Amino acid sequence: MAEPTNPRPRILYSAAGPEPPFPLRMEGTVISGFGRGSKELGIPTANLPVDAAATPWIADARSGVYFGWASLALPRTHPDASSSSSPPSSTTTTTTTNNNTDNPSSSSSTTPPPSFQIYPMVMSIGYNPFYKNSVRSAEVHILQAFGADFYDAPMRLLILGFVRDEKDYSGLDALVEDIRVDCDVARQSLAREAWTPAEGVVGGGSGTLDGSWLVR
Ligand code: ADP
Ligand code: MG
Repeated sequence: MAEPTNPRPRILYSAAGPEPPFPLRMEGTVISGFGRGSKELGIPTANLPVDAAATPWIADARSGVYFGWASLALPRTHPDASSSSSPPSSTTTTTTTNNNTDNPSSSSSTTPPPSFQIYPMVMSIGYNPFYKNSVRSAEVHILQAFGADFYDAPMRLLILGFVRDEKDYSGLDALVEDIRVDCDVARQSLAREAWTPAEGVVGGGSGTLDGSWLVR
């Protein structure tokens, strides 16, 4: 594969860390998208419903590509769930403080809820064509290969910076090329210490960024 000659800078913002108005936060449950075939392009995007009340900043957000961190609470049955990569600790006794009166089989099913794992991501904020482009849309490409889809999984986003405006493309190749560069920009910009969560990220590494909201 020839080295791309795309002149866009790969590292955005200062090494000192995110600048206002970032970080911006958003959370929800992964839903089906617009069926644009992102996966066929090798760039699946996990869509989140936009709750304008919970994310008041999004109404005025500039449309375009952003980067940051996503956390996912994958179900324990998912091949990439944390419990499948590291054996569960059998000595952990979980004391539930809320009374599970509606769950008679709780003694045999006291598995803790899935925990959030943090991944680098690149995302687009645009307009939802289903609502005649009057409602914002948000879709996230996580920079990691997954062994299975994760529709319905809870997802949180810590958005740290803006990458570029939306563009009109003459062809798919130019679009895919630009998205590849977006991914590269996200990876390299996020790799710096002040941009990497102290809580640790999937694939290794931790920095000084406060990512506690992602895993709380
Ligand atoms: P849709 O139109 O339903 O959003 P996509 O082709 O965009 O379909 O695929 C998105 C789905 O692919 C996500 O909801 C998720 O379940 C799955 N997926 C697998 N790998 C990734 C990834 N790296 N980033 C985002 N979503 C992924
Ligand atoms: Mg999608």
